[in-house]
Amino acid sequence: MTTKYIFVTGGVVSSLGKGIISASIGKLLQARGYKITIQKFDPYINIDPGTLNPYEHGECYVTEDGMETDLDLGHYERFTGIRTTRHNSITTGRIYKTVIDRERRGDYLGKTIQVVPHITDEIKRRMLREDEKDEDLDFVITEVGGTIGDIESAPFMEAIRQLRWSLGRNAVCVHLTYVPYLKAADELKTKPTQHSVKELQSMGIQPDILVLRTERHLDDALRLKVASFCNVDLECVVQSEDMASIYEVPVNMQRQGLDEAILRKCQTTGNLGGKTAEDTHGMASWHAFLEKQRCATREVHIGLVGKYGLQDAYKSIRESLNLAGIYNDVKTTIHFINSEEIIKENVAKELSGLAGIIICPGFGQRGIEGKIVAAEYTRTHDVPTFGICLGMQMMVIEFARDVLGYKDAHSAEMNPNTLHNVIDLMEEQKSITEMGGTMRLGAYECELEVGSKAWEAYGKEILIQERHRHRFEFNNKYKEEYEARGMKCVGINPDTRLVEIVEIPEKRWYIGTQFHPEYASTVLKPHPLFMSFIKACI
Ligand code: GLN
Repeated sequence: MTTKYIFVTGGVVSSLGKGIISASIGKLLQARGYKITIQKFDPYINIDPGTLNPYEHGECYVTEDGMETDLDLGHYERFTGIRTTRHNSITTGRIYKTVIDRERRGDYLGKTIQVVPHITDEIKRRMLREDEKDEDLDFVITEVGGTIGDIESAPFMEAIRQLRWSLGRNAVCVHLTYVPYLKAADELKTKPTQHSVKELQSMGIQPDILVLRTERHLDDALRLKVASFCNVDLECVVQSEDMASIYEVPVNMQRQGLDEAILRKCQTTGNLGGKTAEDTHGMASWHAFLEKQRCATREVHIGLVGKYGLQDAYKSIRESLNLAGIYNDVKTTIHFINSEEIIKENVAKELSGLAGIIICPGFGQRGIEGKIVAAEYTRTHDVPTFGICLGMQMMVIEFARDVLGYKDAHSAEMNPNTLHNVIDLMEEQKSITEMGGTMRLGAYECELEVGSKAWEAYGKEILIQERHRHRFEFNNKYKEEYEARGMKCVGINPDTRLVEIVEIPEKRWYIGTQFHPEYASTVLKPHPLFMSFIKACI
């Protein structure tokens, strides 16, 4: 089948959940047996979000091939189980860099380089995935970040306009807007949606499908009003009410026929591998998951010890905990604990009532002493503890200070002059001066020690692969000392001997990973380490 292109844009306000809608469209088409991918185009000028503070843009999601990307790629992977790559996350910065590099090489043969056509051509090339021609996809879903009307997203809109023209039936535009409820008037207002669609039309794009985000149910009269003001068929105006869980969204979209509408628009009525009627188009396993989610009401309380209070900063960790909870028949309630506020005197109180804690990843000095205090408390009180990346490094430092007796033990990241650099800069990192995209990134192998808790958790597999994002590592000079005193290095990279997992076998569950397992959890396949951690917490 010829590849079809679905463009997802957003209007009125940001944070409407375009990523969830894009992921839901992907899920529904995948369930029907189509081969799909979902990509994100972000209008900011950073080459990638790797150098962004989580307060700016939430978590940085890492692909298997080592690209630092937008957190929406996490939704795409969790919903569909399909791995994304560096071709799925594009920014204005990357587009400009490609064009400018080409200009410097002289490829444009004396031409004046302009936003139209040179920047828009490069955007189109990426939207069409021309570097990935052998993928043989049925659908490419492209989500454009930002809100219609932003100056910086204009070249992306122009690219979509041109593609719609050249692709004809093979392109579909889905526009997501907001219908606010005004309490004083007791009314739902469609005007912002009308304006947003007008703005899109003024750029030459007529949306095919409108998804209205709303906190209250929209009746048919309101949908009809939107349809007629915006030149969109009534059955192509769907509403996305707030749901108890984001994982209900695909089913809600399917109920209103969003996938049908897309297929109709691009004149594809097929239903490839996905079965029909009785399993609602290949969604049986998804429904089974939702049923499990509904039944999981008994709560387990987990503490997230980190320095970023906002929801999106540890998105994949939160979702991994939720998913592992559901598969263990419990509802995970996550409590954020600001590590900057944890000291020896209050740690017992701060962590009281928690069944287990996660020590979060991160960079830099701020909040690390609190993480170390938390690690000591949970180790000495045998509370299940899961340290991820910087979290693992803090477990290692705490153990050195308290058990090995090296009071000045530290990471070279925080104290380059410490005598006991139990966490040290990786050799290959020493010559690096540029910060963007230069960490140890992406999937690497790890060999598990037979008999360890980690090995049990992974179903007794020996060789696993997990994703990384770090510059510092466990200093192998101290390995024997650690092992002699009870902290074992149970996961090792077979090529570099880098320590990937530490655990204290005599504790109920005290494991730290240098890698980031949270990136690999999906709705239908929760991550084995999170599964095992939640089990211990219960
Ligand atoms: N800052 C640490 C390092 O670079 C940990 C990074 C992380 O937690 N992702 O090694």
